Amino acid sequence: MTAESAKPPASRRTFLAGTGAAAAGTAAAALLDGPLAGTAQAAGPVCPPGQFAPVPKRALGPPVNADGYFVGQIKGDLYWVTDSFYTAMFLTTQDGVVLVDAPPTIGHNLLRAIGAVTQANGRPSLVTHLVYSHSHADHIGASSLLGSDVVRIGHSECRTLLLRDNDPNRPSPEVTFEDRHTLTVGGQTLELAFHGPNHTPDNIFIWAPGQQTLMLVDVIFPRWAPFKNVAVSQDIPAWIRAQDIAMSYPWHTLVAGHLGRLGTRADAELQIAYVADLQASARATLQNLNPTPFFKKYGDNAWAIFKAYLDAASAQAAAPVTQKYLGKLAAADVFTFDNAFAVLESLRIDGGVLGPFGDHP
Ligand SMILES: [Zn+2]
Repeated sequence: MTAESAKPPASRRTFLAGTGAAAAGTAAAALLDGPLAGTAQAAGPVCPPGQFAPVPKRALGPPVNADGYFVGQIKGDLYWVTDSFYTAMFLTTQDGVVLVDAPPTIGHNLLRAIGAVTQANGRPSLVTHLVYSHSHADHIGASSLLGSDVVRIGHSECRTLLLRDNDPNRPSPEVTFEDRHTLTVGGQTLELAFHGPNHTPDNIFIWAPGQQTLMLVDVIFPRWAPFKNVAVSQDIPAWIRAQDIAMSYPWHTLVAGHLGRLGTRADAELQIAYVADLQASARATLQNLNPTPFFKKYGDNAWAIFKAYLDAASAQAAAPVTQKYLGKLAAADVFTFDNAFAVLESLRIDGGVLGPFGDHP
């Protein structure tokens, strides 16, 4: 693909290149200082503070061009674009382009990518429709770049949230739906569906039947451990179920919204196994980690008891899972502690698996 002459500022690329290093190592560092440092170190691989295991090659996507993006064909008129941190998808049609999400880190490169593709395939380059996967600014914060004439489409709750946020970069969608919406533009179709809250109360499934491609954002992270605290999801049992709902679609390709590659069904199965292992490990930890030392050590400081217990429980639950998936899921050593914490808390407060904080004998 040829790129247009305008280039993003060098500072953006420099900034993005530095983010991986900047985000390094709070969990491991905290564990090494904690009261159960010995337990955590003995139970699994621990890199020195601020350092993590190398990312497996297969977790990485194609290299970005000089402008900082990669655009590729998925199938037929369906394309994806990435800056290797976020992904978006677009459908070229005889009547204009349907774009799904507008991540601000890709920003103006969305228009460069669409321009390059439509110049090559002879379709009109104007984006006529913009679908929002959900309301979060990191996925749709470049919406305003598409102007005021584009038809914005999202779940009704997405509209409610965006009216609340009142962010000029994220105009609320004027076309909304509750359960299902079929979007047909220039003979091409996307089927939008809401299967209940998961990552957010408005996160939808975007199905391209003609291209056997599903876009689902912030639920499956192909070949990577899920982002911190199970992708900072608001409903963790429903987020876990959303993985299975995704598998009920007959997709061949997944556009996941994050990182720099597409997903296969094998990638999704691997994450489902990771989450199941994390749940089993968290459940076992709640049943067998003795809270007595924490009560003794922290006395009348109730929050200190809970924090130290939950930190130790997260370390214990994470250790075997990190060990099992290191080398299979990139950054398993970065976020499994935080993911274990989120799964533990959800088991306690959603699942009623209260461990030592259940009925007083
Ligand atoms: Zn999100």
